[in-house]
Amino acid sequence: MKTCAIVGINWGDEGKGRMVDLLTEDYDIVIRYQGGGNAGHTVVNEYGKFALHLLPSGVFHPAVVNVLGNGVALDAENLWTEIEALRARSIAISPANLKISDRASLLLPWHREQDALEEARLGAKQYGSTKQGIAPFYSDKYQKKTILAGELFYPDELQEHLAELLEWKNMILTEVYGAEPCAMESLMRWVHTYGERIKPFLCDTGDFLRTAAAAEKNLLFEAQLGALRDLDYGIYPYTTSTNALAAYAPLGSGLPTVKLDEVVGVVKAYSTCVGEGPFVCELFGEEAKRLREAGGEYGAKTGRPRRVGPLDLVATRYGVQTQGATALAVTKLDVLNYLEKIPVCTQYEVDGQQTARFPFPVALGRSKPVFETFEGWNCDISRVRRWADLPAAAQRYVELIETRVGCPIRYVSVGPERDAIILR
Ligand code: GDP
Repeated sequence: MKTCAIVGINWGDEGKGRMVDLLTEDYDIVIRYQGGGNAGHTVVNEYGKFALHLLPSGVFHPAVVNVLGNGVALDAENLWTEIEALRARSIAISPANLKISDRASLLLPWHREQDALEEARLGAKQYGSTKQGIAPFYSDKYQKKTILAGELFYPDELQEHLAELLEWKNMILTEVYGAEPCAMESLMRWVHTYGERIKPFLCDTGDFLRTAAAAEKNLLFEAQLGALRDLDYGIYPYTTSTNALAAYAPLGSGLPTVKLDEVVGVVKAYSTCVGEGPFVCELFGEEAKRLREAGGEYGAKTGRPRRVGPLDLVATRYGVQTQGATALAVTKLDVLNYLEKIPVCTQYEVDGQQTARFPFPVALGRSKPVFETFEGWNCDISRVRRWADLPAAAQRYVELIETRVGCPIRYVSVGPERDAIILR
């Protein structure tokens, strides 16, 4: 058996989906262990271009079993839409290749509603939520006020539990936000409609994965977002509401004692960030526009333009450390083809002091980037498939990242297609 987690080193959108799709060839099971439908993992392969939100990026490999672990926010409505959309494009999804943990909590319509209400209340100070209900969902889960998917098999107890939660949630919706209360009938209708659809996929994924591990199956864990958005280690409070680190993979999947043999950290060749919060390297104006266009940096889920900037080695080194990456994949190197000179942030200046250490979130807001400039390769590298064929300046750029963050770079991605990869 081998185990590997594919995780984001930066703010998310690093290209984890394309790396999972590529590496799945060597694995039997792909597991999403945290987050929800707010992800937008883009995969381009022989079937076309897809943006996956909740489904693991292993769904395109017919022999692979995909698992949604207990740590995910199970948005049954969006999941169903996603399943139907893939089926319409001839991707087979059935209980044989998709297993959902009966211990995953259900993201209910009121989570999305509360997310939107809270962002509206915050006004100019909003976090930039994708409004998929993730923050209210996880806070309810930690308050022990969610429904486990497995409760769908116990309709009487489920109805009673839902009625209790409804009473509590309606107090929040009406008294805190002045919104309309949720009606029990529409809630039951929603639960019935989507519950019946996902029931065939539900099982004890812990038991399934233990049996698979005993049979020496290879397990690939797929994370959402990146280290800088991790609830405990990221740029709080501009984080997501769950743990995006590799360390959470065992807990969120159903195999709490499994050891990860490998952690492949995905690093984008430049920086992008969705939503609010400190983003030390941010570019503005024409330069930003050029980079955003070159990289197609618009949210896969929301279509929002992403904030962009040069590679941030201070943040990247921190991401590598917190993820415990054993190897890295650098993606979107081809996007920098147009640059003659490439600026890279190698240190921050915080209150007059230069540092290569990633600061506390509040100090991050006061940090300024210190840039060094490197030669660009200034030619099209998107058809290169061998390290030796990369221009020397592109090799030096990759080696710079490797040396400064202290982790070997095993993959260099030069295009979105499955084969647009250089193995080192
Ligand atoms: P994820 O959420 O980490 O899976 O990343 P996203 O899917 O949000 O963002 C990655 C985007 O970049 C997608 O549109 C990919 O198709 C694309 N992509 C991934 N790797 C490369 C690459 O090496 N070069 C280029 N040009 N595009 C890439």
